[in-house]
Amino acid sequence: MAKYTPMIEQYLEIKEKAKDAFLFFRLGDFYEMFFEDAKLAAQELEITLTGREGGAEEKIPMCGVPYHSAEQYIFKLIQKGYKVAICEQVENPAEAKGVVKREIVRVITPGTVMEGKMIGKNHNNFILCISHFNDTYNLAACDLTTGELYETSGQNSLDFILDEIGTYSPVEIVSEASLSPYIHERIDQISSTILMTEWDDKDEHLVKEQFTTELWQSLSLSSQHCISLLMSYLKETQKRALSHITNIHSYERNQFMTLDPFTRRNLELVETIRDQSKKGSLLWLLDKTVTSMGARLLKRWVDKPLMNQTSINERLEVTDTLVQQYIVREDLREKLKNVYDLERLVGRISYGNANARDLVALKKSLEQVPALIEICNDSGSDNLSGIVHSLDQCSDLKDRIDEAIIDEPPISVKEGAMIKEGYHDYLDQLREASVNGKQWLAELEQREREVTGIKKLKIGYNKVFGYFIEITKANINLIPEGRYERKQTLTNAERFITPELKEKEALILEAEEKMVGIEYELFNELRNELKFQIPRLQKLAGIISTLDVFQSLAKVSAEYEYCKPVITKDYDLNIKEGRHPVVESISKDQRFIANDSLFESGDQNILLITGPNMAGKSTYMRQVSLICIMAQIGCFVPATEAKIPIIDRIFTRIGAADDLVSGQSTFMVEMKDIQVMTEKATEQSLVIIDELGRGTSTSEGMSIAQAVIEFLHHEIGCKTLVSTHFHELAHLEKQLPYLKNYSMSVKESGDEVTFLRKLIKGAASTSYGIYCAQIAGIPNSIIERSYLLLNTFESRSVNQDLKGLTGDVKREIAVTEQSNMEQDVMLNKVDTIQLSLFEELEDHNTDVNN
Ligand code: ADP
Repeated sequence: MAKYTPMIEQYLEIKEKAKDAFLFFRLGDFYEMFFEDAKLAAQELEITLTGREGGAEEKIPMCGVPYHSAEQYIFKLIQKGYKVAICEQVENPAEAKGVVKREIVRVITPGTVMEGKMIGKNHNNFILCISHFNDTYNLAACDLTTGELYETSGQNSLDFILDEIGTYSPVEIVSEASLSPYIHERIDQISSTILMTEWDDKDEHLVKEQFTTELWQSLSLSSQHCISLLMSYLKETQKRALSHITNIHSYERNQFMTLDPFTRRNLELVETIRDQSKKGSLLWLLDKTVTSMGARLLKRWVDKPLMNQTSINERLEVTDTLVQQYIVREDLREKLKNVYDLERLVGRISYGNANARDLVALKKSLEQVPALIEICNDSGSDNLSGIVHSLDQCSDLKDRIDEAIIDEPPISVKEGAMIKEGYHDYLDQLREASVNGKQWLAELEQREREVTGIKKLKIGYNKVFGYFIEITKANINLIPEGRYERKQTLTNAERFITPELKEKEALILEAEEKMVGIEYELFNELRNELKFQIPRLQKLAGIISTLDVFQSLAKVSAEYEYCKPVITKDYDLNIKEGRHPVVESISKDQRFIANDSLFESGDQNILLITGPNMAGKSTYMRQVSLICIMAQIGCFVPATEAKIPIIDRIFTRIGAADDLVSGQSTFMVEMKDIQVMTEKATEQSLVIIDELGRGTSTSEGMSIAQAVIEFLHHEIGCKTLVSTHFHELAHLEKQLPYLKNYSMSVKESGDEVTFLRKLIKGAASTSYGIYCAQIAGIPNSIIERSYLLLNTFESRSVNQDLKGLTGDVKREIAVTEQSNMEQDVMLNKVDTIQLSLFEELEDHNTDVNN
């Protein structure tokens, strides 16, 4: 005998298929959860946990949510990183023998949410799949809301694939079990909210049918494997044809500049380090897009700067046209404002949840296309007209929607009032019948008023009694004997019917019911028809987004007076009067001080920048990186002139202040970054090192810094910017022919130090650390004490036998550094001590190098 009632047995059977999800089990108007699901859901959703008799001795834990408001609960769970399996009744309860048949109709996961607040308008919602096949690592990324699918391989390098994860900001990752640990490690570094599923099932045959044979066969076996895994997961969870996923964008790693997650973070490309918000990032500055599609595409451009000179120049040409042609740019913006999110509309059409308003939005968007084309063609620019050349305007689809759907349809597709008159004969006839019926009702009302002499007699309708004649109590006595049949009594009135009224009522209601049914059918037909046109619409959407991105880049370039960079394949980089785009844009009252940057093959590869804290070193180094990135995106750059060689990869090792606080572990991270850099950097790379070796004692830090600089100088020859507070490293200029000393200039007058933020040749002599602490508002007592200690250190260094003291000082410095940031800075003032220390360390360095 079964332990539970048949329904609970059914529940358990279905739950087996959705072990890693909350099972929302449909029971009448509720989704119920049972057992462990119920306990956890009650906690997570803050809803009441109850119990239900289920055949066993003890009650079964249960909680539920009403089906009409289920969405908010589902999203709450998804946001917390859970999956939700929706289990519906799939047969009419009235016809069911025994327990109503139920099935899981869809599993909702963070990467497969199609609507609601979780889907930011301007963000893609990527689900990734990572696989390993034939010695090749692959990645596939899909945004189910738009149907985009990207795919790349890292051959035998998992590192590249792991770096790629960051560029998609995924919400969910599906991976083969064998890769799970590596992915977990990377995810831990970039985000805490990515849902991971190990997934090894694939039905390649089924997936293959999703794409054209030509497209499928153009993929390598390992790519096919990866896409099959992802698509099988999507099909298994979504349980429907995903007709909007028709294209696969394959790319190779060498098409784009490589930016690891740390570099992307350090340079604040799409979000700031401080609060992970878009505001204050490069993307935020560049984003003057008008459409959501454009905003999403711009993010992808920022995430993936190009490497191909011709492609970059093509983009720059279009930007140039739009920088110069203000009117064209503004006209484009005006038209684009009326374009809806075509990509997501298409997603909803494919999912079958687009309503009539969505189709009207599609129509309105399509109406803008001819004007967009005209603006581009009239601009006189071949580059711009080239974008819209032979563009499929999809005007036939616009006409189809226009002939079928009224301009302001209701949200619901199940209440009629969507289809235009003249679209369907029978619908028109029914409408006429319904209109005539209503006309007849109006005439009846009039006639009965005259016959009875009751002016307030009226015809009404409700769902229970249908149409009726209503007469107030005061007038009841005026009704001629036997004229009406009494139906309902209210406090102030009586309601009556007549056989004739009921007859008409049947006709009217039947017509209305039929009308609603037919309208829904016609709407569905149209929606399905559009499903087949999805690839055309997607192509159009892609071009419209591209136009939007270009006008955005051009608008920013024009407003901030950027210059068009010259892209070269040489080594040399030459920026005249460069600025940091974001710092410049937010420092409204203060003028941003422009600085040049020069790297020349065989002369200057490494710029060693010294200068006090707050002098502008980090800003300067970041600005050089951002200028290169902007140029390779196809944007103008904040400078008066710029010659930019194509950069294959940017590495940044930027020591945040918290490096000092979190001590050793951060130092380890720093060393790992350096390790990757030494392994992966090429002559074409740009390396930014801010305060290298800060997380350990001065002596060690300085040794490592020097060794790393020497390695980059001798072995790699990449363009390198190093900022350091080890002033002693300045002597390297004498030994390393391609290294040049620079510093951020300051002006001293009396006790005052003014930061001039101008990069000048030559090393700085001091770091003004205590002064910096003073302007940061550190209490006077500490400042005074710091100066006192500084004097002590300095006099000690002068008065004592340096050789004998070195060990003590070394230890003292190390201890002090670990515990106090200000003193760390201050200690650098002890030039004499450190110099002697440095001599002693030279031998040690030689060991490190070897
Ligand atoms: P450092 O790395 O030398 O400690 P930062 O680069 O952090 O200094 O710069 C300190 C502050 O100075 C920044 O927050 C920025 O607002 C301002 N700043 C930096 N460079 C410039 C510049 N070139 N012109 C104007 N202000 C600048």
